[in-house]
Amino acid sequence: MRGGGDLDALIAGVREARPRAIGRAISLIENGSADLPQLARALAPDTGRAHIVGLTGSPGVGKSTTTSALVGALRAEGQRVGVLAIDPSSPFSGGALLGDRVRMQSHALDDRVYIRSMATRGHLGGLAAAAPQALRVFDAAGFDTVLLETVGVGQSEIEVAATADTTLVLLAPGMGDGVQAAKAGILEIGDIFVVNKSDRDGSQALIRELRGMIALGERDPAAWKPPIVATVALDNHGIDELVRCIQGFRASQVVNGQADVRRVSRARREVESLALGRLRAQLSLEGRAGLDELATAVSRGEVDPYTAADQLLAR
Ligand code: GDP
Repeated sequence: MRGGGDLDALIAGVREARPRAIGRAISLIENGSADLPQLARALAPDTGRAHIVGLTGSPGVGKSTTTSALVGALRAEGQRVGVLAIDPSSPFSGGALLGDRVRMQSHALDDRVYIRSMATRGHLGGLAAAAPQALRVFDAAGFDTVLLETVGVGQSEIEVAATADTTLVLLAPGMGDGVQAAKAGILEIGDIFVVNKSDRDGSQALIRELRGMIALGERDPAAWKPPIVATVALDNHGIDELVRCIQGFRASQVVNGQADVRRVSRARREVESLALGRLRAQLSLEGRAGLDELATAVSRGEVDPYTAADQLLAR
């Protein structure tokens, strides 16, 4: 995109929640466009209202199915709902990932729902900077709730899910998930645990195991005790209870001030990631020749790596 007029029209379109404008804004974010600072500046005053609900869990546990069921339940309450699916490795953009998923298509014609997947490979600050920016586009467009689905359970996806206002960790029986979850460190970030596919054998055992693990990790007895909700997302079973838990958690966070703490932590990650991305870009552009030279000197034992790093930063 070029030209102030285009960008102004785009900003106005986002504020009016026009799907095309939202889609284009998120494409700019994916691609790390030079227009992003201006876009972010213009949208900043309109943000701070949306409730960001993160969903994370291993592939196949039912994140997409649960997201779709939640969209239905929240729409029934009259909410406007956004869905952002993050797939850092995806070569697709423009919603190819979610658009292919049959269950989401039931919401495709609802103009108070906007669904989009995002890849972040071109972005300067990576996923940690791109996701919050995209969330602010949804926020500025006036969505009440934004469901943030992270595809995959890599460290950065987990961290992004953890900075949601409310984080759902999904597990399912028969996937070796109990052990896996502990390994991947997703137990610490769950505000609410969802045992999906509870129509399957092993769900009771998984719930017991999970309850034990949550009790083990408990530090402060006054702190929020993450509830475990059993669902069969495929037929909406347990989804109303899940919505009640989400709203209960949200209300408690607002009352005890943790809602603001999360927001600040999300913004901190974003600023930090952007700043680091800038530094890295500067170092590789301006320092490339210098870095080669320094690396050669270090490899020959003429300079130690600490001194070389100082010299690189000083340039
Ligand atoms: P994701 O990879 O975590 O997004 O998982 P999906 O939502 O794509 O679901 C993976 C598979 O599990 C799909 O074939 C779903 O139809 C199925 N599935 C989702 N929820 C349930 C459930 O509650 N019970 C059963 N039996 N299958 C489910």
